[in-house]
Amino acid sequence: MSKLNQLTSMPLVSSIIEITETKLKDSIDIEKISQLTIELYKKSEELINQVVEPVKDLIDCKNGCSFCCYNQVSVTPLEVLTIDKYLKENLSDNELNDLKEKIVQTDKITYNTKHLERKKLRMPCPLLKDNSCSVYSVRPLFCRGWNSNSSIDCEDAFNSNEEHEIKIFGSQLMVTNSISIGLNKGIKKLGNKSENLELIHALKIALTKYNVTEKYLSGKNIFSDARLDY
Ligand code: SF4
Repeated sequence: MSKLNQLTSMPLVSSIIEITETKLKDSIDIEKISQLTIELYKKSEELINQVVEPVKDLIDCKNGCSFCCYNQVSVTPLEVLTIDKYLKENLSDNELNDLKEKIVQTDKITYNTKHLERKKLRMPCPLLKDNSCSVYSVRPLFCRGWNSNSSIDCEDAFNSNEEHEIKIFGSQLMVTNSISIGLNKGIKKLGNKSENLELIHALKIALTKYNVTEKYLSGKNIFSDARLDY
């Protein structure tokens, strides 16, 4: 994991820092946060399409394959706030309450587990529904970067209790790692806390506490309990 997280492009990181600062320097609110995050997701899709084009036949990811959605997911605070907004705008009150409950229950089991321990639990991401991502259009950069040359390898990794190497196309991961780092650095330059968070616990905080965006933007370390060490 750690080696893969080191795959970055410094020019791309610098350009994302600049975009983040430019878009948010005058004022920050949830609309601007969500617009920027979605703009960066579109950029990631364009760049991934460019780098993947020459090798696209070697990538074995397909709709309905979800073995990677049982692993720990790293996410930036702005992405959590964007998913929170998306869920509140797109789910009914009942659906939102059901999802909240599912996230709380999953978090009781997965919270504070390390990568291998988490994998061995074989607990699906609470956003996974019928083997597809229920927040696909706003899924985290981490999920966008992950890929595999063999779904059989992914199934073997899922069934194994050991670390299991999966052959991936590193350039795709480099795109999303770089955007994620640039986003964290850009937000920090504007004076806000920004670090990698564990998705389930961060979402639990966003969905169960009041005025999370306002608290985050006022400098409160609202997501500190969800911080990941990498
Ligand atoms: S956010 Fe979506 S793509 Fe990412 S792990 Fe959860 S279900 Fe899978």
